[in-house]
Amino acid sequence: MNIINPATEEIITTLQEDNKASLNQKLQLLKTSSKDWAKKDLTERIKVIRHFSELLETEKEKLASVLTSEVGKPLQQSRNEINGARARIQWMTENSEKYLSDEQITNTDELKETISYDPLGVICNISAWNYPYLVGVNVFIPALLAGNGVMYKPSEYASLTGLEIERLLKLAGVPDGVFQIALGAKDTGEQLLDMDFDGYFFTGSYRTGQHIYERVAAKMVPCQLELGGKDPLYVADDVKDIHAVAAGTADGAFYNNGQSCCAVERIYVHEKVYDDYIASFLKEVQSWKSGLPTEEGVYIGALTRKEQLSVLENQVKDALDQGATLLQGGKRKPGKGYNFEPTVLTHVTNNMKVMQEESFGPIIGIMKVKDDAEATKLMQDTEYGLTAAVYTDDLNRAKQILKQIDSGTGYWNCCDRVSAGVPWSGRKHSGIGATLSHQGLRAFTKTKSWHLRK
Ligand code: NAD
Repeated sequence: MNIINPATEEIITTLQEDNKASLNQKLQLLKTSSKDWAKKDLTERIKVIRHFSELLETEKEKLASVLTSEVGKPLQQSRNEINGARARIQWMTENSEKYLSDEQITNTDELKETISYDPLGVICNISAWNYPYLVGVNVFIPALLAGNGVMYKPSEYASLTGLEIERLLKLAGVPDGVFQIALGAKDTGEQLLDMDFDGYFFTGSYRTGQHIYERVAAKMVPCQLELGGKDPLYVADDVKDIHAVAAGTADGAFYNNGQSCCAVERIYVHEKVYDDYIASFLKEVQSWKSGLPTEEGVYIGALTRKEQLSVLENQVKDALDQGATLLQGGKRKPGKGYNFEPTVLTHVTNNMKVMQEESFGPIIGIMKVKDDAEATKLMQDTEYGLTAAVYTDDLNRAKQILKQIDSGTGYWNCCDRVSAGVPWSGRKHSGIGATLSHQGLRAFTKTKSWHLRK
């Protein structure tokens, strides 16, 4: 498997993919060794995971540079990602005793009723490339804290980062047989689906997620999916500072080249502030530095996957064929690297691909609306349900709209953010189950109810 730098198109290295025999061997090792890990006191596991987090900090520059080399995101965004992962680990380690320890429900002289949170066993984590530290940490850290063994399959586009994660977890004290890595692409993933895991935790596209859900259904083990989005954002007419709103929401759409599951993918703007918003939005987009992701100050780096360039070109063509206006960008950049110009389309309609299909790139469609009712209707018009955002001076107005949107997350005057203390979950085609928060810790456990009568 060749690992390619998307900014230079050079081969960084070649790795040996796993095969059926090597995966089976790893699974057997996990099944044997994870039992001892589960028996350890939770405080011991917490200590190991805290050590892992410290190692992330110590080796941050090296890790950021490896990440940037294989996914093309600007170096500063790679550093931000590692910092973000550490913040999540901190929340998880600070809260796991509260949520993973036995819980007493009834406590009388005659009867005690308690709940224990037992590990699932050995879980399989098939992961995405866009934030390998963040989406990885959402799964393998709570899984390990809860006492599970983990087979971690990083995306084929983030294999080097996967190997760094494995190295640092082991250096921190996770036993060899408790965390194993499965290297490879779709074929490796398919083989994992044939194997005997006690739970599947997937982050990736709707199409793959749906396939995995069907493939593992007969096993009757937990299967959790964190999938894509087509996240809408509405700017109402009462916002105080339209320039700040335009700058903040442009960042929400284009950070990491738009390759975020919760990137703003569609924008609806009230007609009264539309012209000012567009002017400020464009100014912001035009102020960004594009270039090699290793250059400091670059905000728009390379896309990770070459195939996405055609997806974006196709969305632009579809929009222009149906009467949209191209205000900015619209094409790939010449020369080496998978680079696409930050693209802004207006006069779009909701049936266009750019307003319906996940773009996962530096492109946005902006639409003028006449009132909240029209905005709400358009925002809700999607197969996805990850996040939705409303910018207004009035919290009640935002709540009124967000309550009508079938999404796992609602944002008022913010967007494109994830926080460790609240569940991260998608509705409709955006997924099943939740990571982060108490739910995300307990997702890696099975409960036992204890009825203890004297
Ligand atoms: P993808 O579905 O192409 O691949 C995800 C993983 O699945 C990879 O490891 C891949 O090798 C593996 N895979 C592919 N085909 C498989 C198969 N048939 N069987 C088993 N495994 C298989 O997704 P991607 O391109 O890596 O990630 C981008 C997608 O992930 C976007 O849709 C994005 O929105 C979504 N995402 C969601 C979240 C979230 O938290 N909801 C977070 C990050 C990314």
